[in-house]
This record gives sequence, C-alpha cells and structure tokens, in this order.
Amino acid sequence: MLASNESPDPPLPQVVRAIERTLTNLNRYPDPANARLRRALSDRYGVPANRIAIGNGSVDLLLAAGEALLEPGAEVVYAWPSFGIYPHLAAASGARAIAVGLDGGDRHDLDAMMEEITAATRLVIVCNPNNPTSTALPLAGVAAFAERVPPHVALVLDEAYCEFSLLDDPDASIDLLERHPNLVLMRTFSKVYGLAGMRVGFALCGSERFVQAVDQVRQPFFCNAAAQAAAIEALRHQDAVAERVERAVLARVEMQSGLERLGLRVAASQANFCWLHLPEGVEEKAVADGLAERGVLVRGGTGLGQEGALRVTYGRAEDNARFLRELAALL
Ligand SMILES: *Cc1c(COP(=O)(O)O)cnc(C)c1O
Repeated sequence: MLASNESPDPPLPQVVRAIERTLTNLNRYPDPANARLRRALSDRYGVPANRIAIGNGSVDLLLAAGEALLEPGAEVVYAWPSFGIYPHLAAASGARAIAVGLDGGDRHDLDAMMEEITAATRLVIVCNPNNPTSTALPLAGVAAFAERVPPHVALVLDEAYCEFSLLDDPDASIDLLERHPNLVLMRTFSKVYGLAGMRVGFALCGSERFVQAVDQVRQPFFCNAAAQAAAIEALRHQDAVAERVERAVLARVEMQSGLERLGLRVAASQANFCWLHLPEGVEEKAVADGLAERGVLVRGGTGLGQEGALRVTYGRAEDNARFLRELAALL
C-alpha cells in the first residue's frame, strides 16, 4: 500500500488504549470545543489555544476555509500539480481557481504565484512539502513570500508533511505567525502521527478570526470523541514521531538511489513519498497497472495533475525493496 502517503506503522498501543477508554462513554456527545486537544496542541506547539482550529482531518479545515472565505468573484491561488482537494475549494464556492505551474524542479514558483495575487484574491495555498511532487521550499523563501502577501489575503501553508523535511526545523514556521495575522499553518495527525483512519487535523493560526470563520461554517461535532483522545495521546509520544521521521529519511535515501540506478528522474523529496518521472515512451498507466497486478499499489501522475509520473509512498524496507524490484522488471 504505497498509494496514500500513510504511515506503514500501526498505531501505538497507548493510542489504541486511549481510544478504547472512550468507547464506554459513547452515549455522550464529544466536546465540541475540543478543549483538551487544543490545550495539548498549545503546549506542544506554543500557539495559544484560541488560535488553534481542529478539523475532521485537515481536509475538513481546507474545505471550511473555502466555504468561509470564498464566493463568486473571489479568487484562490495555488500551485499545480498540488493537493487534489484545492480545486474543490473554488468549485464548491463559485470562486475562480488560479493554478500556477511548478518550476522545472517540481517546486512551487512563489514569484509566479505572487504575480497572480489581485484585489480579488482571498486565499493563497502553499503546500510545503508539496503533494504530489514531494519537494519543499526552504523557510526563508516562504517567509519572504509571506512578507509580500497583502493582509486582505489569507495565506495557508499546508504542512501535512513538514515533519519529514530536513530543510528546516519543522516548527520554525510557527514563528511567522507572530508577524502575520493572515497566516495559517495546516497540520494533520494522518501522516507522521500515523492516524489517518481517525481523521484529525489542526490549524495553527496567526489570528483567532480564522478559527472563528471555519467554526461558523461547520457542524459542531466535527471531531469525534475517539479521535480527540487518540490525538491527545499521540502528541505525548514525540519519540515515536522522531523514529518515524528517521525511518522515512532512510527509506528516502534508499528509494532515491534505487530509482536513480534505474535511470529515472526523481524529484528532490523532503516528504514520506517520492515523485518520479517515467522515461519517454513508457506508458504511466501500464506501469501503475503492472505494479498493481504484482501487488504494489502506487498512484499514477495523471490522476494527480501531471501525466508520465508516479507518486510512491515510502513503506517498510521490504515494501520499498519489492517496489523497486517490480518496477525494474516492468521497465
Ligand atoms: C494528507 C494530506 C493532508 C491531510 O489530510 P487529512 O484530511 O488530515 O487526512 C492535507 N494536505 C495534504 C497536502 C495532504 O497530502
């Protein structure tokens, strides 16, 4: 299962027990304020709880941001290829989507994105590291961009994979919140915390107003009791987070060199997955289907915004070795 950028590791036993403890109380509604979870996040990340929003996965927060901030006549700017949810924000609200192509290294082109910001722009999304291309921008570039984005525009940094990046301390972007009330950092428990099935995401915000905006457009109980308990417990195990990052970085080095040995062009990954360009004349669908027939699930680039590429999540060492073996056989 190398198709969805999940963690290959099962949840920690302590997290499973925390979920189990909620089961006998499920006749009650969950805490609609997510107060304990927001306090735990505040302790971990040093952002006041009133500037932390919770979501049923961070996709829930992204869609809520679209609903709260966009309308016909408004514009949302994002890179492409990037996360497949972003186009839905415009489609659902009637706003105009401005998709800005990546640069030659499969990275965001922040200068080109800056040029697209107008009086009609309400929302700019920067996915760092970028899904599906795995590349990241150094924080200095993002910080300079944040300086230039005008205050009437909400700047969302989607940092679903930031823990896996070695370019900067993943928490360094939090310092930018003090200078930019219009900045929002989207994070998730689905990737490095290994809880994709629980559906918990969060936003660290420069202003309480973003929290209020997304809370106003959603039903009150968007984060269930088991999910809240699991996330609180997962935060207590930062040692496990560090171990997962270490294993992903090892996998990254092995996959990168394995793919380069096959003569493939691979984007410079800072994530828990890679993005590889297939050689001229090799059909993406044939490779993706062939891998699936051999028991290896990956995602073809066509469904992610760019033909002729594959996105491959790093699995356990034996999964990665098997993928490389089957890919070599197919090519
Ligand atoms: C996986 C991912 C998310 C997180 O999604 P959840 O709804 O929290 O599971 C957000 N943004 C990007 C770019 C992702 O790849």
